Amino acid sequence: MVTREVIHHQDLLEWCWAAEDELIPKPFFTSCYLLDDLLIDTGAPKGQMEFLNFIKNQQVKNPISKGLITHTHEDHIGGTHILAEEFQIPLYSSPQALLLLKNASNYTYPEYRELYWGAELHSVEALPVPKLISSHTGKYELTVVSTPGHAPDQIAFIECSEEWAFVADAILPKYQVLFGHTCNIQEDIAQIYRSIRKIYDFTEGMDNLKVFVSGKGVFQGQGYIKARLDEIEGLHKQVQGYKQKGFTAEKILEEIFVEEGIMGIMTNGELSHLNLVNSLYQWNA
Ligand SMILES: [Zn+2]
Repeated sequence: MVTREVIHHQDLLEWCWAAEDELIPKPFFTSCYLLDDLLIDTGAPKGQMEFLNFIKNQQVKNPISKGLITHTHEDHIGGTHILAEEFQIPLYSSPQALLLLKNASNYTYPEYRELYWGAELHSVEALPVPKLISSHTGKYELTVVSTPGHAPDQIAFIECSEEWAFVADAILPKYQVLFGHTCNIQEDIAQIYRSIRKIYDFTEGMDNLKVFVSGKGVFQGQGYIKARLDEIEGLHKQVQGYKQKGFTAEKILEEIFVEEGIMGIMTNGELSHLNLVNSLYQWNA
């Protein structure tokens, strides 16, 4: 296991966790953010011991008052029961995530994800997140923005006066592969694009914007968001152009990416170029 803590500000700490897997050259991290007494996300099931230690330490210093869940993928809800049961910290999620959290112990996913993130999820009760959430000092206030596409129940949290956007997996640094129809994560690139645009519009005028992307780092300024919009628009234009010429999705994949990448092969096509091409192909703007 690899854990690391990054102090972004005296009241903002990022706790990251990754599994160590010799097949994967660069570890995939997942992040939790602690803003004053508000905790965003809970890591992966395989990291729950490390998460427990992190929370225990925190409870001595500045007890957490609320656990906020961005979305119900396994790398974000692995420690929900630790907050809810061991420390009686209330959890909040989008209304769409409540039922899945309640039945999380029955949630199954493919072996490669179980091996990397762990499989032991616990069912928990959460509350629907209010539109605004304040920390106990009143110093910070998070605005909730619905960002479906990567997950139908995903939300982002934005601290407007600090200009901090906690977007989880809603604005990834690159769009080259997508989860698709063959698995339980069904990403939709059109919806992803609309959610990114929503965050872009929401953060207009924030000159010191920092975008916190789970496990990937902090990105400065609206330019980061704009570059993602441009990237997706460019790919969409390309795919639609080939579609008009009568190319199939498989043929378009060859034109743009030459062949399926290592990620597509390792995940049996679940996280693949082809899913991205298919989603762009079906998106009639
Ligand atoms: Zn996710």
